[in-house]
Amino acid sequence: MSIGAMIGDILRSLFKKPATQRYPYERYPTPDRLRGKLFYDPTKCTGCQLCIKDCPSDAIELIVLDKVNKRFVMRYNIDRCTYCAQCVQNCRFDCLSMSNEQYEMAALQRQPFEVFYGRDEDVQFLLERATREDPEAQPCQPPA
Ligand code: SF4
Ligand code: SF4
Repeated sequence: MSIGAMIGDILRSLFKKPATQRYPYERYPTPDRLRGKLFYDPTKCTGCQLCIKDCPSDAIELIVLDKVNKRFVMRYNIDRCTYCAQCVQNCRFDCLSMSNEQYEMAALQRQPFEVFYGRDEDVQFLLERATREDPEAQPCQPPA
């Protein structure tokens, strides 16, 4: 490319609208079906564990506190999740869903990637039990 053509390109580019988005200051609306962070509704869960068996990345675990009274807490390891939605599709009780708004999960530490879902009292019970068993343990993250 000649110098003249190059200067022409530069001058044209100076007055053209940028082709790129000024992320994170600007964001396009996300599609409704975007698969972001997984959410769990414990009120409908039967504890069948089908979602756990189907997860190809071992990203979810169901902690059974009391099966008779359906007290379950789901541990979700976001950093292992591939957002495949296999668990969502296979839950017959509609307990799982994926957010199309929460998809920016980058963090400098691993800890925010471990999330516990369940009824507030059950998550609290689990966190207290974990602290009693290992007082040095880092506090777990309640669901965002
Ligand atoms: S598949 Fe659904 S009902 Fe079964 S354990 Fe998972 S979330 Fe609960
Ligand atoms: S979306 Fe896929 S990888 Fe993530 S928890 Fe569900 S089954 Fe596992």
